[in-house]
Amino acid sequence: MKNSEIAEVFENIAGLLELKGEIPFKIRAYQKAARTIEHHPVELSKLVEESGTEALREIPGIGEAISKKILELLDTGKLKYYEELKSEFPEGIIRLMDVPGIGPKTAMRASKELGINTVEELEKAILDGRLASLPRMGEKTAENILRHIRTMKTKDQRIPLGQVLPVVDDIIAELRQRTDIRSIEPAGSLRRFRETIGDIDLMGTSDDPEGTIRAFTQLPQVVDVLVMGPKKASVVLRDGLQVDLRIVEDDAYGALIQYFTGSKQHNVVLREWARRRGLSLSEYGITNLSTGEVERFATEEEFYKRLGLQLIPPEIREGGVEVELAEKGAIPRFVEVKDIRGDLHVHTKESDGQNSLEEMAVAARDRGYEYIAITEHSPGLGIARGLSEERLRSQIAKIEELNRKLKSIRILVGTEVDIRADGSLDYPDELLGELDVVVAAVHSSMNQERAKITARVIKAMSNPHVDILAHPSCRLIGEREPVDIDMEAVFKAALETHTAMEINGQPQRLDLKDIHIQRAKDLGVPLVVSTDAHSIAQLNLMRLGVATARRGWCEARHILNTRPLRELLEFCGRNG
Ligand SMILES: [Zn+2]
Ligand SMILES: [Zn+2]
Repeated sequence: MKNSEIAEVFENIAGLLELKGEIPFKIRAYQKAARTIEHHPVELSKLVEESGTEALREIPGIGEAISKKILELLDTGKLKYYEELKSEFPEGIIRLMDVPGIGPKTAMRASKELGINTVEELEKAILDGRLASLPRMGEKTAENILRHIRTMKTKDQRIPLGQVLPVVDDIIAELRQRTDIRSIEPAGSLRRFRETIGDIDLMGTSDDPEGTIRAFTQLPQVVDVLVMGPKKASVVLRDGLQVDLRIVEDDAYGALIQYFTGSKQHNVVLREWARRRGLSLSEYGITNLSTGEVERFATEEEFYKRLGLQLIPPEIREGGVEVELAEKGAIPRFVEVKDIRGDLHVHTKESDGQNSLEEMAVAARDRGYEYIAITEHSPGLGIARGLSEERLRSQIAKIEELNRKLKSIRILVGTEVDIRADGSLDYPDELLGELDVVVAAVHSSMNQERAKITARVIKAMSNPHVDILAHPSCRLIGEREPVDIDMEAVFKAALETHTAMEINGQPQRLDLKDIHIQRAKDLGVPLVVSTDAHSIAQLNLMRLGVATARRGWCEARHILNTRPLRELLEFCGRNG
């Protein structure tokens, strides 16, 4: 049993004793014990195991009675005294008390007077105003409780970036259409392109903040408005996501978006930096500590400049060395979507994609790409309609024909060849030799032990035809753990075999991930950013891939597909 769980038991005991009208001294003893245990630096289970039961008594505020109860909880996971106490109360009250902000008294009244016995019923009673009508409750407190319920539900549940982005894109598009909002963008981990997102915070400027906020709360996807003020609102969407919007004047936007972009650690470092210069930072601006004067900033660039720093890209605001480097102006220009000259991992209808070869090629051309590699699956993957040798040969012919027709883009013949369990490839060498780009990937036998799967992948990379290793960790965020592969060994092999590592832009993959990208880059391993698009729309995932590369501190020069066609083909061992 963890300290936090033990503390909760004592907290609840205190609450129930209060309901029973016990003497305050007794109640306070349990409350004090709960707080002590919650903040104790060592897990009590470990403490008892290592130093014996006596060690508990040495903790201030833990007397004999409490110490016995802790031991009973550690031994049995239960506490007889607590169970008996609980049985004196209706079950509903106990459940309601789990919601932060609901003390024993409120729980009792909600249960007795409103017949509420579950958290769901409580939520309903808040939404229809019944809870607020209780004496000494009021709307504000009820709203706060609702917030607690919502955060309780989503606690520790970070949402994959890919799930959040389209929702936020929609909201931004609708707000642009319905209101006079300017400069609207997400802050927080979404702006930093972390792979999972906590809160969704949008920031904007508008001449009519109230109208904009009202329009926001009235969007069709909004099912519930948690908080609404003249410049700020908090809503819940149909799919349960909570979104906050803040509107400020133009000249306050820079400080606001900086503050809410975080990360927390970055802002801690920045605040300390400012403090040493007699300044203090807030969401409103920069305060001169000696005069008390607050300076406002329309842009983040000006905000950082006032601190003597170069603008730090959101993707690297992690509280590492970025502030030091920014002082020297030493943060490089990271790769941008506009640097990318082509996509090197794309599927069409021939395997498991949705669009035809020509549609994909035209879409790539319209994006301004110089080249696109068509990389269908190989036949070993029965599920993905992999191409037989014969079908791949006929695709080569089709691509040659299309290349004659479409002038301003070069379609490269490629494959995403499966790396079999033994490290051999799913096509014969001779066929691979006819292709422009060979992308290799693991799609099966992912549970192999570390040494085995590492050797398997390195064997595939050692095939002279293999140019790129796709989604090297094979993880699916929130669904599947990465394979147990020795990434360092793979990177070393990449250098020796001249194989590029892919940064896959599929939101559930983002693979390689940021820290691995940074390591690969530092070692000089060639990298590519690809979308693994299965439709025209997914070609847009390049922005996720590029953002992930930026989180790994990549400049354009580190990314192969920022290079012109000829250089790319040289890397792949062919002549343009
Ligand atoms: Zn794949
Ligand atoms: Zn693929």
